Amino acid sequence: MNEVPSLQQLLKQLQQVPYLASKNIYRVAAHFLTMDQAKLNQFCAALREAKERVIPCATCAAWVEKGRPCLYCESTRRNQSVVCVVETWQELIVIERSGGYQGAYHVLGGVISPLDGIGPENLTIQLLLERVSHGTVEELILATNQTPEGEATSAYIARLLKDKPIKISCLARGMPVGSHLEYMDRLTVYKALAERRPF
Ligand SMILES: [Zn+2]
Repeated sequence: MNEVPSLQQLLKQLQQVPYLASKNIYRVAAHFLTMDQAKLNQFCAALREAKERVIPCATCAAWVEKGRPCLYCESTRRNQSVVCVVETWQELIVIERSGGYQGAYHVLGGVISPLDGIGPENLTIQLLLERVSHGTVEELILATNQTPEGEATSAYIARLLKDKPIKISCLARGMPVGSHLEYMDRLTVYKALAERRPF
């Protein structure tokens, strides 16, 4: 590969993309190299533009376009007194797709994981506490994944808020232990939300 340094460089970059299986990087590299030049330019421009213009919402930490209102926090059609707390934006999308939720969200940005060096200060927990302190939130649905880290993170948040006059609930039982929302079908997510129980 030394004779093709540019390709080597591309593979090196692709290797650093998480979620891209290492056996697929050659296929992806070949795809880019055979791509129509205009399409490739469009792809690069979209990536650059998204990186420049998409930022976390100052209230819920979901992605928003700079200068535009948040789809979730600033919608009058959504019940702003109910806030569903999710680990990442990917889970927010899953809940949205279930079609059964009309409240607001809060994106934590991950879970507390001491082994990975992630503490509460690395998540958006402070932002959530500030939001709750404004007094407009009546119910918090802790919808972290049912993994040890997800459960510990929910328990941590519930502990911080135990003296606040809000209802704290979590997804219904019946979701497989160790399960990630991301891999669940719509109906399961819908039911887990509809049949939520006190935390
Ligand atoms: Zn928002």
